[in-house]
Amino acid sequence: MTVSLEVNNPPEGLARDLAAIEALNLPRKDALPLAASRKPRQTLLDYDFGELTAVVKELGFPAFRAKQIWGWLYQKFAADYGEMSNLPRPLLEKLAAKAPLAPLEVVVEKVAGDGQTRKVLFRLADGAEIESVLMLYPDRATVCVSTQAGCAMGCTFCATGQLGLFRNLQAGEIVQQVLHFERYLSTTEDEAAMGHKRVSNLVFMGMGEPLANYLNLWKAIRRFHDPDGLNMGARKMTVSTVGLVPMIRRFAEEDLPVNLAISLHAANDTLRGSMLPINHRFPIAELMQACRDYIEKSNRRVSFEYTLVDGQNDSPAAARELGRLLQGMLCHVNLIPMNPVPGSSQRGSTGERVKAFQAELTRFGIPNSVRFEKGRDIQAACGQLKVEKDAAELKRAAKQPQETL
Ligand code: SAH
Ligand code: SF4
Repeated sequence: MTVSLEVNNPPEGLARDLAAIEALNLPRKDALPLAASRKPRQTLLDYDFGELTAVVKELGFPAFRAKQIWGWLYQKFAADYGEMSNLPRPLLEKLAAKAPLAPLEVVVEKVAGDGQTRKVLFRLADGAEIESVLMLYPDRATVCVSTQAGCAMGCTFCATGQLGLFRNLQAGEIVQQVLHFERYLSTTEDEAAMGHKRVSNLVFMGMGEPLANYLNLWKAIRRFHDPDGLNMGARKMTVSTVGLVPMIRRFAEEDLPVNLAISLHAANDTLRGSMLPINHRFPIAELMQACRDYIEKSNRRVSFEYTLVDGQNDSPAAARELGRLLQGMLCHVNLIPMNPVPGSSQRGSTGERVKAFQAELTRFGIPNSVRFEKGRDIQAACGQLKVEKDAAELKRAAKQPQETL
């Protein structure tokens, strides 16, 4: 038998929803060629436990060897087959030939002044680049994970949106980002990381739209949740979406109570459509209905992300409109002053305007908090490091003497 990693063979309805999302193909400037169907080579971390066991057996070794390998990967965070000292060499050689265990290559790593935020730009095997961030708080160590290289959704205030979509990440590439920081935390002697031996929380708020890569997202989530994997509680994970309604409805049906965050950013269709092109496809009324159904089904609150862009969506009137939209809903609003994006003239709201916005929202009884992004000095909003690096490379290339024909 040959084990196929064509994950997933999705049921018909899901396949249809996924095809519809891929077909959205929103207009965007300077986009990389849309290559969402490109598939990089499989790696060991793409296997779930059942698949790994099948491969080990197929190679002629007993099933318990899969359990040993699993322990090396997810309890000891091995970065190389060579570390798996209690496994037979022929098995490791055969497995390595079939599915390499290549950790992600670090291109740039930036640490914020206080040492509490660590942002990494990774290069994948096919040259695609993605970003992840580790944020240390007194009570938790949170990793912000990317689910796509780039993003097709084209939100105007987002650095990743400027890139366009390169491709979906494989489940193993999502898992690798977290393993990178698990390795760092379990071995570092940095003072800032003291007391944090493990990654405790995950937010799927890095590059890309998680619900557009639904199957690999869930394959990774199950790995993080698996008691023999990273053993992370479902409630410690938060998936953020721009509002892909059919996938939100699927999300509500999943068996693990992973938190859901919705990127709302505006309370009327005209304004939201001007900031988030996807709103033309899934307008606010449809999105809100999906959220209400999700709350009713799951009995869990929804988080709404509201990025405050100076002079655009941050007026007291906009706050009142948001208050009216969300009144009575089991929810929480995160207000996030926009992080500056290279090449964009849009700016985050001033402290005063943030306060005034928050006060209006509070008058409507909407639970809320202001989240200042950690690590502004290292371009912590995802996509910024990549956009900045690309811009620097272009500049350098422009300075190269041109060859004359
Ligand atoms: N695609 C998903 C998840 C990744 S973006 C989504 O849109 O929800 C994660 C969050 O960062 C979203 O709420 C997004 O709107 C927000 N965001 C993007 N660019 C930002 C910026 N420049 N400043 C502040 N927040 C930003
Ligand atoms: Fe994509 Fe989210 Fe950025 Fe919009 S905000 S472009 S959905 S990553």
